[in-house]
Parts: sequence; C-alpha cells; structure tokens
Amino acid sequence: MKRLLNKIALVTGGNRGIGEAIVLRLAEEGADVAINYYTDSLREQAKVVQRKVEELGRRAIVVEADVGNKQDVEAMIMVVEEQLGEIEILINNAGIAPFEPFMQVTEETWDRTFNTNVKAIFLTSQLAAKRMIPKRNGKIINILSTASLMVTSPVIPHYQASKAAGHMLTKGMAIELGRYNINVNAVGPSTIETDMCTDFLADPEIRRKEVEANPMKRLGTAKQIGDAVVFLASNEAEQINGHLMMVDGGLTVKA
Ligand code: NDP
Repeated sequence: MKRLLNKIALVTGGNRGIGEAIVLRLAEEGADVAINYYTDSLREQAKVVQRKVEELGRRAIVVEADVGNKQDVEAMIMVVEEQLGEIEILINNAGIAPFEPFMQVTEETWDRTFNTNVKAIFLTSQLAAKRMIPKRNGKIINILSTASLMVTSPVIPHYQASKAAGHMLTKGMAIELGRYNINVNAVGPSTIETDMCTDFLADPEIRRKEVEANPMKRLGTAKQIGDAVVFLASNEAEQINGHLMMVDGGLTVKA
C-alpha cells in the first residue's frame, strides 16, 4: 500500500542532492510532485528528475523560483496549483552553505543565507498554509541540519545560525497551525555527500574525521532523508508536530 497515494507535494530545491532523493521517495509512495529549482543552468537537471518521477507513474512539473523572493514564491505556488493542484505536502529543502569563516562573511552572504534557509520557509509555508487551513489538512517539513543543534564547523557560523532559526520557526509554526490539522516538522541530516559537501569531503582527512565523529561510523545518504520525510508526510505521523527528527547516526545525541 502506497502511503502518499495521489497527494500533491512541492519540494523546493528538488532538482538535485537531498531534494532529488525526497522527490523520488515521495513519488515512489504515490505522490505527484512539483520540483522547484533556482539556477538556470540546472533546469535540465530538474527535467531529468521530472522524467524519473514520470517513469514511476506519477505526475511531475518543474518550476523555477528563488525561494527567498516573495514574488517568485507567489508565482511558484500559482503554477503548482494550476498545473498539479493544491499543495498538501510542502518540503522546504532548498538551502545554501557558503563555507566562510565569520570574519570573512559579507552582508551579501549573510542575507543570501538567511533568505534561502529561513525567509524561504516563512514565505512558502505561509502561502501554502493559507490553502491548507480551509481544508484542515497539510504537512510541512523543513530540512534543517545537525547545525540546528550544535557547532558542526568553524567556517559556517551564518549557516548554523540560519538552521537554528529554522528550528524555532518549525516549533512556532507547529503550535499555530496544529489546530488546523497541519503538521509542521523538520528533519536534521548530518553530513551527506551532495554538491554542497563535495569540496569539503574531497580532503581525505576531513572525510575520515567526519566518519569517525559519527556514532554509526559512516556518512548518511540522501535516501535516508527521503525515508524520514515520507514517514513525517504520512498518516502514521499524524500526532507528530513540532518535532525535529535527527537523521544523523546519533551525532547530536550529546548536543
Ligand atoms: P545541494 O547544494 O546539493 O542542493 C541545494 C539545492 O537548493 C539545489 O536544488 C538548489 O537549486 C536549491 N537552492 C539553492 N538556493 C535556492 C534558491 N534561492 N531558491 C530555490 N532553490 C535554491 O544541497 P543538499 O542537497 O546537500 O542540501 C539540501 C538541504 O539539506 C539544504 O537545506 C541543506 O542545508 C540541508 N543539509 C544538507 C547536508 C549535507 O551534508 N549535504 C547536511 C545537513 C543539512 P539549484 O540546483 O537550482 O541551484
């Protein structure tokens, strides 16, 4: 039995990395999926994911938007509604992690990080929730990080601050939207080998330390994040609200 049969989902940053894995897991469970992307040159990559969803027998659309920009988000939600239907599952996955030590972080980097990692959750969730409230039905899942709970690296203080903000935003939204039968939860991955971490993990010593620091003695995978998202989006999780589910091998147990 498919757990998300005929549900309509939007995954921000769904064209690659963790977002792609989430899109494919949702489609495997029977959902139709809108795949958001941002970078012009990566549109073709979004189309590749769209074809994979269609091969699974589900509908998919590709929609460009800067999720930190209100006009873009409004247009994106309209396109999804027109082409797929009203969003029942929103996955706020898009994120950036510009690796820079505190003293080199510019105002532009700070704003871009917070716009993409925090403001985007506010913009997309508020608009999606406006549609979910009258239906008394919805799931919002924010992809956060171990950085929501602990210092993961000395060179991304702005990223850590944004992911910690995402944690409190998740809790606040959960309290306000729960009464409308809208569950708001989050998933917190540890290091996963995507484009975000390619450079970082290219150093064998850093990779070895990452593996050694994890209680499971391995890195996580994007599919594991997709599995957690499917669970939180399903009816099995109907009483889970405001929760940050760490999928980190136990890295943050002591945080
Ligand atoms: P990637 O760098 O592989 O992908 C980032 C995604 O975000 C891309 O789809 C990108 O779109 C999208 N994106 C970036 N900026 C915008 C924007 N302004 N508007 C819309 N989309 C945007 O990252 P991951 O897959 O690794 O990360 C996904 C999420 O998981 C992020 O929130 C990240 O913080 C979190 N995470 C990742 C970890 C890891 O180790 N990889 C660990 C913990 C958390 P495009 O391709 O079009 O540029």
